[in-house]
Amino acid sequence: QVQRDRVGEKVSGADRIKEQLQTFSLRPNKALGQNFLANAEKAEAIAAAACQGGLPALEIGPGLGALTGPLLRHAPKVCAVEIDAAMAAALSSLFADEPKLRILHEDFLQTDLALVQAELGVPFAVAANLPYYATTPICLRLLSCGLPIPRMALMAQKEAAERFFAQPSTRQYGLLAVLAQYYYQPTRLMELSPADYYPQPDVSSSVALLIRRNTALIPGFADFLQRAFSQRRKTLLNNLKGLPGAAEALACCGIPPAARAESLGPEALARLAMSSGKWQY
Ligand code: SAM
Repeated sequence: QVQRDRVGEKVSGADRIKEQLQTFSLRPNKALGQNFLANAEKAEAIAAAACQGGLPALEIGPGLGALTGPLLRHAPKVCAVEIDAAMAAALSSLFADEPKLRILHEDFLQTDLALVQAELGVPFAVAANLPYYATTPICLRLLSCGLPIPRMALMAQKEAAERFFAQPSTRQYGLLAVLAQYYYQPTRLMELSPADYYPQPDVSSSVALLIRRNTALIPGFADFLQRAFSQRRKTLLNNLKGLPGAAEALACCGIPPAARAESLGPEALARLAMSSGKWQY
């Protein structure tokens, strides 16, 4: 994959990243999941899918801006949250002339999302090449924050991305699958091979595109699911012990007392969560 960076000169995506790292005296930090996207066409397609309709965008982990540049072409405004101080500084230097970009140097897991919302206006899209080590907590935060996010393009290691699509009674099915499928319609946008990155990871990745469904937010749904799936071998009733009215809620939803959370689809779990709230108060 080749892109034209400077007039008359062809530079491969990986070479461009190496140059940038050298310019800023940086090294990829493995602990922060820094595998940079080196395929410009794919970055463009991800940004276009995320911001369709001209949505402003939140980017998590912009690194050296492989996705930030394309996002700025598709979105009226981009807010990029980067945990690594050196990366954030390099990024602000690379995009110094870009008034549409706001860079926040912080851990996305601690970011004040009300601030992001105020910065971008609502609704906004999310795009990210997610750091491997924090894929699950970042996705759970996005899926349970209750902000109006109509579209998300999330890149993750293939196995992690597949959890968005997992079906009941499979090993991969759990909290993430239920939240993703109840609130969103997930589709597979694209696959990426190790050669699409620098440095190259050991495994393939994919991008899931999540499009918001017309379902209302259920307060406390993620906490409820955390409980329901806490011990997969145990029955739902056992896992929900201590939640007042759990048995009544199961009966009210027509769920057998011996059922396990993993055997129920997102809609049934949502009904149960709403019903549990009713019995609880
Ligand atoms: N977006 C860039 C790209 O595609 O080339 C970099 C992607 S790299 C896989 C992940 C990025 O997330 C790194 O820049 C890393 O420093 C950043 N990061 C890791 N943990 C983070 C966190 N908790 N909050 C914000 N950024 C984080």
